[in-house]
Amino acid sequence: MLGAMQGWTMRVTRVIDHAAREAGSREIVTRWADGSETRTDWAGIRRDAKKMAQALQSLGVKEGDRVASLAMNHSRHLVSWYGVAGMGGVLHTVNPRLFEDQLEFIANHAEDRVLLYDAMFQPIVDKMRDRWTTIEHYICYDSGEHNPAFEDWIAPYGEDFDWVEGDERDPCMLCYTSGTTGNPKGVLYEHRSTVLHALVGLQPAAFNFSASSVMLPVVPMFHAASWGLPYAGAMAGIKFVFSAVNEPAVLDELMKREGVTDSAGVPTVWLAHFQYCDATGTDLPKLKSATIGGSAAPKFMIERLMKNGTRVQHAWGMTETSPIGTVGGPTADWDQLSFEEKVGKTAMQGRPVFGVELRTVDLDDMSTELPRDGKTSGALQIRGPWVIKRYFKAEEDAVDADGWFDTGDVGILHPDGTLQLTDRTKDVIKSGGEWISSVELENAAVGHPAVAEAAAIGMPHPKWDERPVLFVVKKDGADCTGEEVTAFLVDKVAKWWLPDAVEFVDDIPHTATGKISKKDLRARFADYTLES
Ligand code: AMP
Repeated sequence: MLGAMQGWTMRVTRVIDHAAREAGSREIVTRWADGSETRTDWAGIRRDAKKMAQALQSLGVKEGDRVASLAMNHSRHLVSWYGVAGMGGVLHTVNPRLFEDQLEFIANHAEDRVLLYDAMFQPIVDKMRDRWTTIEHYICYDSGEHNPAFEDWIAPYGEDFDWVEGDERDPCMLCYTSGTTGNPKGVLYEHRSTVLHALVGLQPAAFNFSASSVMLPVVPMFHAASWGLPYAGAMAGIKFVFSAVNEPAVLDELMKREGVTDSAGVPTVWLAHFQYCDATGTDLPKLKSATIGGSAAPKFMIERLMKNGTRVQHAWGMTETSPIGTVGGPTADWDQLSFEEKVGKTAMQGRPVFGVELRTVDLDDMSTELPRDGKTSGALQIRGPWVIKRYFKAEEDAVDADGWFDTGDVGILHPDGTLQLTDRTKDVIKSGGEWISSVELENAAVGHPAVAEAAAIGMPHPKWDERPVLFVVKKDGADCTGEEVTAFLVDKVAKWWLPDAVEFVDDIPHTATGKISKKDLRARFADYTLES
């Protein structure tokens, strides 16, 4: 017997229909790369998405076809999220920081038919055009000399268009992982997974959105579906403030002028903002909440934001998980905790949102489930309705028979469900048979006033197998010695975790998504030897 309620296909077009109907005049502000600003609203986004859907159809784009975007955060990119899905297509958001070989690989692998791009990426388009074998049409988001401009391209069409309907398991977006090993892999989000993920994303236990929220997402729209914010924000009818450039001075001014209450981004965004405020003597913007994820948020960052009255939501996730896995926020015992305890708890990665299941398993056999005791660390596995099953065009599932996806992360689960991420499986340092967390060493080191960035890697050691070496970039104009950095770590990590050497470097290599690339760091120091 079936229940007797109405069927309701979960399609992302329902999200934009709702936003336009219930919060139609709520503003969407864009600060463009050339310094100009435009304002539209949810009704305007829906209207343009309807126009764009027809413009795509007139190019011959069919349901299931991939349409790529190479763009920063702005309202026309937002229009594309709904316009492509609205005609049954799949938006492939391309990270412009990928290397040429990766750019070639992903566009060809995705079989993109159309590319929508920002004028600032014209040099990439010019360089890659001959290597992209499937792209037939190039549309520029800005008015340019080379290709049709987006606004002109959609102008001939009206608002009178019925969204293309279909199954809720149809795909709507494609994101490739940054590919720390081998070629990037595609993660194909579906309408249903996207709607469910967004429903959870706006809850108090996640982004904590309400109709009065004003969000400036610094997380790019090309990275992991911008954490689902363009969908969750539409569901709650929030005001968005987009910036096509990520300079702290621009973000700071926008946050203060537009009454921004919420922001989301990787930790380096806040590092840059702190430096800007310190250098110019400006106050940090008084945000209600800042979601930080993508890599570990260091304690001093959490402390400074919390002291400024900002609730910090430290979130963990990955492209393969849409990306929300866990989010930090007030726990049941929050009011009883001291400020230091609150900072300590926030430095962990938060708790699973509804829909997500986590477990840790033994790192050696990768199958024995470990206790949630707050001390045993293991390989982190996840399952849920917005977690990957199989990479795009892969022949085999990426999960085991019970649906568990191995994240490649190492963590500890606490009895209250809190996840404490300690490392990547490939980056943990094994010394004398015991694991050392490279991430904890790095996080502790960046608390030193002269340290701008730090990366710890395990170096071969004749007696201990591996020992940690800490690579440090000093802040501009600051100085310190290796001994001083080690002395600073003494009361922050176990004694046997202290690095065998501290090496000062001019820069630390990063991946296209801005994370420290341990692979490249190891390659750079392949000949490094430690004394026994
Ligand atoms: P990506 O798919 O590029 O978003 O990368 C996902 C990876 O980023 C995860 O598997 C983690 O290794 C790392 N990551 C994401 N969020 C956090 C966090 N809050 N703390 C530490 N690492 C994180």
